[in-house]
This record gives sequence, C-alpha cells and structure tokens, in this order.
Amino acid sequence: MNTSTGVLTVNLDALLANWQILRARAPNSIVAAVVKADAYGLDARQVVRALSRQGCRDFFFATVSEALEVADVLSPGCRRYILGGFAVGEERDLLEHKLIPVLSSQAEVRRWQQLLAVTGRRAECALKFDSGMTRMGLAVDELLALGGDASLCQQMGLRLIMSHLACADESSHPQNSEQLTCFNRVSDQLRPHLPDVAFSLANSSGIFLGPDYQADLVRPGAALYGVNPDMCGANPMRSVVRLSVPVRQLRQLQQSSRIGYGAEVQLPAGRVLAVAAGGYADGLHRVLGNEGVGRMAGVEVPVVGRVSMDSTIFDVTSVPNIQAMVRGEVEVPDIQVLDEHLDVSRVAARNQSLGYEVLTSLRAGRYRRVYCGGEQ
Ligand SMILES: *Cc1c(COP(=O)(O)O)cnc(C)c1O
Repeated sequence: MNTSTGVLTVNLDALLANWQILRARAPNSIVAAVVKADAYGLDARQVVRALSRQGCRDFFFATVSEALEVADVLSPGCRRYILGGFAVGEERDLLEHKLIPVLSSQAEVRRWQQLLAVTGRRAECALKFDSGMTRMGLAVDELLALGGDASLCQQMGLRLIMSHLACADESSHPQNSEQLTCFNRVSDQLRPHLPDVAFSLANSSGIFLGPDYQADLVRPGAALYGVNPDMCGANPMRSVVRLSVPVRQLRQLQQSSRIGYGAEVQLPAGRVLAVAAGGYADGLHRVLGNEGVGRMAGVEVPVVGRVSMDSTIFDVTSVPNIQAMVRGEVEVPDIQVLDEHLDVSRVAARNQSLGYEVLTSLRAGRYRRVYCGGEQ
C-alpha cells in the first residue's frame, strides 16, 4: 500500500525565475532572500543552495539555529542576517560563524558592543528601526543618536540599517508613503556619516511600490515562493509549489446522504465522492478553507463538508470518465490542491488566509517532497 499522503513538488527553477524577476524590478538594489521558517516551509537548505548558486549573496533568517542549518550549502562570500537578533548563549555561534544579527533595541545594541569589547573580536551587525509599523526596532531618535557617532558604528561593525513596511501589499495605503518619508529622513541624515552602510526598506510587496522604496537592498521572501506581492493586481510571480493528494476511495451515493463530521452537508443520490488522503494535520485546512476546490483530471472539484484530520472529501461527479473510475475500469488520478492554476495566492484569497500561512502550514504535512530544477 502506498502510505504517502501526497506529493509536494517544489519547482526550484520557478524560484530562481522569481528571484530574477525581482532583480529586474529592482535593478539598482541588491536582491537578498528571506528564508526564515525553513524558507516559508519549502526547505531552507534546498532554497539557499539553489539561490546561492545563482548568485544571491544575502540571506535573512529568523534565528541563529536556522542560519546554522544551511552552513554547508552556502556559496563562499554569502552573508547570513538574523532578523530576530541574538539571545544570551548564542554569542559564540554568532562570532564563530560570522552571522550578522539585526539589532532592534538599545539593550541589544549594548550587549553587542560589550560582546565585541570583551572578546576583542571584529564582527558585523545590522540595525533595525521603526518607521511606523510599531513592531520591533529602535525609535528614530535612538537610531539617529547612534548613527551620528560614526566611529562607534564602525566599532560595532554596522553594515546595514533597515526598516519594515506594514502595509506594502496594499499599494494605495497611505502608511506606505508615510513610512517612506520617515525612512528617507533617516537615510538622508545618516548617509553622509556612514558611507559604507547600506539601507533597506522593502520586502516583496515593497519592491513593487516602485524604485523610491528599493534603497540599497531589498528583502523579498513571499514573492520568491510564488505569493502575489500585490493584493489587488495579477500575480507577476511564477508558481513554485504543486501539491497533489491521492484518492483513497471513490463512492457513488446510492441515496441522499449527509457528508462528513457534523453532517453539515447533504447531497443527493448519484453524486460521486472522492475521499482524498490529507487533512488539517497536513495543513490542508489552510489551503482549502471552507470553500475549497481541487483539480482532478483538469476539472475543478469542490470540497464537501469539513476537512478531517487525515482526509478530505471532494465532489468529483463532473470529472470526465468518472463512471468508468467508479466501476474500477480506469485508474483514479490524484487531486491537485495547489498548482499553477490554483496558485498559493488564489487559494489564500478564497479562504481569507494568507499565502504565507498556506505555505508555512504545509510544513507539518506528511508529504513526499520532490525538488526539481535548481541545478547549474
Ligand atoms: C519576513 C520579513 C521579510 C520578508 O517579507 P515578505 O513579505 O515575505 O517579502 C522582510 N523583512 C523582514 C524584517 C521580515 O521580517
């Protein structure tokens, strides 16, 4: 028996094509790659190996341990930034592996300065400031005070100053230009003192707000993995993920029947249902939501009733040749729940989820993973 619950295919060529699309959009900036949360669930080792072979040199992780896991797949000269800064106990790893912490508070800045003073080591860091999102980051005044002291910045090994946009996926949101104004005020003031420091504001969506937002370095994550950076427009990115699940059982209703947990749905006699392997334990609730559809033999097939832990039921009555399949004369094909027609953003929009959530929730899934492309 095939015990696999599905096949998750990651197209590394599409990932690389997306990186090139972003480079073309931001031709005057360094295009980094955000690979936190195991590259949004797609496997950071695979993603980092492919991108670093392609020439990407700057990678952003959330934690020190994430950055350590990819050490042996990086090309020489790559930089690893740690968005979450560093915790007590991680100092050795940081210095040993030349990781670049993104420091977000004065306390963290002080700990970094002490670390370098005590160990006598030279190392690099980045600073994050808050331009209006009110999440992590130094206040503007704190940053200006620090950045005004060029020799201190040099001692700290400061190489990047960054901030993060809160509403970039809504291009008409007024907060975008407010944050840009704040960012430009800071960079205009500090650049003359800090000629070797790069400035960065844009995530995936920020790149598509235009050249004003791109600064020296852009930090895309989601768009690399196929998520639409523009909530309102057509998706310019290539689809990277394909997910198909096998059908465990096909049944034709002999009488009007209630379907699944909670008996919320009733269907008439004659309908053909496919019970597919894969449920919420595999992240499928994020993919399918309440009004999910899959595709079987090129036809859209709706989910019926609730997604269970290990299985999901589809109404496949409209699939060509379905009666021959019910009779066992024709093999039952797998059902696609993500592919180039059902891309991550379309799926997410339909069930009020986010492309980010759809991708990262697949991480838990009991899928056989297949990686294609990405070779050089
Ligand atoms: C996650 C993250 C990114 C990447 O954002 P996307 O929207 O996935 O492109 C960029 N910068 C920071 C600080 C982040 O935390």
